[in-house]
Amino acid sequence: MTPQMERINPWQMVLAQIDKAEKHLHCDPNIIEKLKHAERALLVAVPVRMDDGKVKVFKGFRVQHSTVRGPSKGGIRFHPDVDLDEVTALAAWMTWKCAVMNIPFGGAKGGVQCEPKGLSLGELERLTRRYTSEILHFIGPDRDIPAPDVNTNEQIMAWMMDTYSMQVGHSVPGVVTGKPIAIGGSEGRSEATGRGVVYMIIEAAKKLEINLSGCTAAVQGFGNVGVSTAKNLYLEGVKIVAVSNVQGGVYSAKGIDPLALEDHIKTTGSIVGFPGCDAIGNEELLALDCDILVPAALENVIHKGNAHQIKARILAEGANGPVTPIADEILREKNVFMIPDILANAGGVTVSYFEWVQDLQNYFWNEAEINNRLRQLMVVAFKKVMAIADEHQVDNRTAAQILGIGRVVEAVRLRGLYP
Ligand code: NAD
Repeated sequence: MTPQMERINPWQMVLAQIDKAEKHLHCDPNIIEKLKHAERALLVAVPVRMDDGKVKVFKGFRVQHSTVRGPSKGGIRFHPDVDLDEVTALAAWMTWKCAVMNIPFGGAKGGVQCEPKGLSLGELERLTRRYTSEILHFIGPDRDIPAPDVNTNEQIMAWMMDTYSMQVGHSVPGVVTGKPIAIGGSEGRSEATGRGVVYMIIEAAKKLEINLSGCTAAVQGFGNVGVSTAKNLYLEGVKIVAVSNVQGGVYSAKGIDPLALEDHIKTTGSIVGFPGCDAIGNEELLALDCDILVPAALENVIHKGNAHQIKARILAEGANGPVTPIADEILREKNVFMIPDILANAGGVTVSYFEWVQDLQNYFWNEAEINNRLRQLMVVAFKKVMAIADEHQVDNRTAAQILGIGRVVEAVRLRGLYP
């Protein structure tokens, strides 16, 4: 950590954001108070028999922030830094995100404190299955529907779906989204988050009257979100000048072909050494002179220590919470066009919603239909956020929160307080 870096507790960020939105919502303060607490939080022990015969116990979490607008929805993260405050914050952001998109879900998030890269495939499967069985009574297609997040993928969703189905005695594809297509997954889901990020960048470019073709972009994180963002930007004619992941980064002024980079990583196991590129550090990547910057890895990467160095015109938050509140102010002063996480990366949960709908009706749509519906919903949300930003004279993040939190406030008001 650099001396200037802020270590922000993400839950404190959520509380500050709610306070900011409240000033524009003029609603019953009791409702706001309710939203400052997650409905339920489960902490579980996840004992796993390791390959050497020893038993290791991992900490697992599942937090349901809100089920007011529908079953709660949110990913499962496997990472050493997972803790209750992080999971709770991510769950609240899911609540606002689903409301911004106007899809009938609340917000949840889950995680296991572990370093999955140190686990064998067998250990990973046993950890996933045991974690699923520990949260089993908490989740379900009408209650709470997990999905992939950092270090979890289609295979892990398949194991979760199978574990749940074995316990209840019949197949329940709708209990998770982000599954393989062969067992009820949706066309277009694996690329949906990055595709949605690019739909939002296209709208931002239109608003700013920038021609995307010929623009340059840097993408931090080359996992699910980063890969599909880079590929879809490339298809729009944007020159990807730098990409990084946890191992390091690569830079080329001539541009990087994300498909070739993906192949290089598959064959060599590393991003480093991609032909025709120079090495670049993660900090250096953020400060590059480029038109578009997409942080698509983890929280708090743009902070008061490095926000001054950002040169991009458009910043699209592929990751959740990559910009700290102080950095947010700095970027605003620098006139960076911010596409906030609860709008920019909402494509994932939106196609997850489509996947759930398809599972419930046992009738599946083709990819073109999925992508069209996704684009329609995201463009509507973008325009709504821009209109609120104009009306209230606020920044894009506050506008998105006014929209998302406002819709949840209205649902709480209509349902009333039980009993
Ligand atoms: P992933 O595990 O597929 O990829 C994460 C990427 O970040 C990897 O390339 C990893 O190497 C890189 N990374 C990790 N630590 C890093 C560091 N310190 N510096 C640089 N790179 C680093 O995860 P993902 O699903 O792509 O999620 C990334 C972000 O997007 C998270 O914030 C997640 O919550 C958010 N998100 C994901 C989805 C989804 O559908 N998967 C949807 C919405 C938001």
